[in-house]
Amino acid sequence: MPPVDLRILRNLGIIAHIDAGKTTLSERILYYTKKEHRMGTVDEGTAKMDYLEEEQQRGITITAAATTCYWKGHSINLIDTPGHVDFTAEVERSLSVLDGAIGVFCGVAGVQAQSETVWRQAERHRVPRIAFVNKLDRTGADPERAVRSIRERLGANAVAVQLPIGRERDFGGVVDLVSRTAWIWTDELGEACSEQPVPAALADVAELARAELVEAVANVDEELSEAFLEGRPVDAGALSAAIRRAVTARRLVPVLFGAALRNRGVQPVLDAVVAWLPSPLDVGAMEVPRLGERPGRELFQPARDEDLLALAFKTIHDRHGDLTFLRIYSGTLRTNQSVYNSRENKAERIGRLYRMHADEREPIEEAGPGEIVGTVGLRFTRTGDTLCPKARAVQIEGMQFPDTVISKSIEPRSSADRDALEEALEFCARDDPTFRYRIDEETGQAIVSGMGELHLEIVGNRVERDYGVPIRTGQPRVAYRQTAMQAMEGAATFERVFAGKPQFGQIRLRVEPRPQIVPTVKLSLRHDRVPRQFWHAVEQAAHAALKSGLDLGYPIVRVHVEILDGQVREGETNEAVLQKATNDAFQDAMAKAGAVLLEPIMRFEIETPPEFMGGITGDMNTRRGQVHEVDSHADPVKITGTVPLAETFGYSTALRSMSQGRASFVLEPADYQPVPEGLARQLAF
Ligand code: GDP
Ligand code: MG
Repeated sequence: MPPVDLRILRNLGIIAHIDAGKTTLSERILYYTKKEHRMGTVDEGTAKMDYLEEEQQRGITITAAATTCYWKGHSINLIDTPGHVDFTAEVERSLSVLDGAIGVFCGVAGVQAQSETVWRQAERHRVPRIAFVNKLDRTGADPERAVRSIRERLGANAVAVQLPIGRERDFGGVVDLVSRTAWIWTDELGEACSEQPVPAALADVAELARAELVEAVANVDEELSEAFLEGRPVDAGALSAAIRRAVTARRLVPVLFGAALRNRGVQPVLDAVVAWLPSPLDVGAMEVPRLGERPGRELFQPARDEDLLALAFKTIHDRHGDLTFLRIYSGTLRTNQSVYNSRENKAERIGRLYRMHADEREPIEEAGPGEIVGTVGLRFTRTGDTLCPKARAVQIEGMQFPDTVISKSIEPRSSADRDALEEALEFCARDDPTFRYRIDEETGQAIVSGMGELHLEIVGNRVERDYGVPIRTGQPRVAYRQTAMQAMEGAATFERVFAGKPQFGQIRLRVEPRPQIVPTVKLSLRHDRVPRQFWHAVEQAAHAALKSGLDLGYPIVRVHVEILDGQVREGETNEAVLQKATNDAFQDAMAKAGAVLLEPIMRFEIETPPEFMGGITGDMNTRRGQVHEVDSHADPVKITGTVPLAETFGYSTALRSMSQGRASFVLEPADYQPVPEGLARQLAF
């Protein structure tokens, strides 16, 4: 039975930088909630949440796995997300359906590049968070510095709700500042943990830390602020209630400490999830924009007897068919129910319903508000689609997927496999909004594009392993863009005789540079000049022209196109003719404006032992990189800056040899910049 009382439900995500310990923490959570009888480990490739062969071999998370577990009478839907920017789509879709998240940080490194990215993503989705500073058992762990970096680098109102007992090898427990008790773990598996009085040696420090906590919460919670200002003592119940209000209002980030790998500090995280992160009821009604003629919004309450509102946030195509993940916001979903997809404007049928446990499925009969379920049977529904009543057609907004930055060619080893390859790529593109492909007419090769080298490598493996198509891949290439140097008008007249009949159409438009990346199109046509029935076709043609670009074939970005005017002739003008004229006018305008070649610029963050710092920064300079900051107080040293994507291919091998394998790095798309003149000339040929 699905939970009837929504207050006991938590939809929870675990987000962080690569290797902070997300999967390890998830595994511990499954163990303590008795979901799993043995503890899986990332290092031995037995983590339940990293169930793909590819994940277990590499020891990384690629897909966000969902599971449900139970803690102190609460039901927790847990989603473990990947940290690599290559799989950013997984984080984006998870965050769009979660009500709360645990940000996991490394106790040694503090806030790292990718933790910053996912934190901002969570911010955009208005997801309340708690923080878990992990790896306190490691040499160099510094809990205070970690909290400071969360405050400074993420701008979060982060405050410790615990005081670690011992450091590094002696880390053995935490003082719970709210309840003024100590949690001490005594056995290997961390099951034997007892609540004890605060150790006398820590009593003073703990009281000071508690006072700081109370003040921080009072600053953002009116009710507590009164008690605080009047100098009344604040008991555990009042403090905890105030923390809950502040967290759900996203005005506070409580910080907890632990070492997931050593099984220390996990149970209090579960307590915090239950106590402070919001239930679907706290999140409240969904106000969703209407589709179609009537402007405005529809309100859906999180109630079982409301109309159905659900968001498809993920699809997986595999041997067993299509699996679609849904988050239900209101109403009830049953097996074999017919549902309406608002984007497709079509009804389709849900076959079976499942509660997901990583790669296992538990069949259920129905599911209600706040639940996250897997379904089989949906054929048209894609990531980002909304299911709702036809009479209240709406579209849930918010999921944003970045543009691809890197591409390479793929071809089947045997030409007999051409169709099979295309089919496999089509399935991959359907499931992954950050993966694209097109078939090069001339060579017959597929050009695939995605978020990074790793991303495309994994897609290639999937094509070979899951779809049984052996392939050959080319070198990675940069996904360049072009833009206009200046604002300029262009015009084109299309006139010819086709099958004995005259055809005519004329379009005049203006292209102008804009700072934002995604291009925009505005129609300023007059209907007495160009009848309304043609407008949509003209607009579509402008978007198509932006996408296919100029003779180099790179998409055009950072421009605004305004369609100014046109001319038609009765009986001689049709959609196709005006579309041709629009494209020609666009080419004309771009030729006059002067096209600039843009390349993706990546933000990098490198962590290295100090002795390799000089070599690494020197090498970055030869790659046209710019070092913005070297944090040499940290150990490992953190080097951040930007570098053109084109100069980063194979960087992992280069960095390994520069640092005896001890440095690590992450890259993420940051911007586009003009390619230097000399290089641009080479690329044009
Ligand atoms: P994820 O990439 O965030 O999912 O991180 P993983 O859970 O895969 O962990 C990355 C690595 O850090 C693995 O080798 C873990 O064994 C290790 N690790 C995780 N938690 C801890 C911890 O508390 N202490 C130490 N010393 N290592 C940890
Ligand atoms: Mg992981």
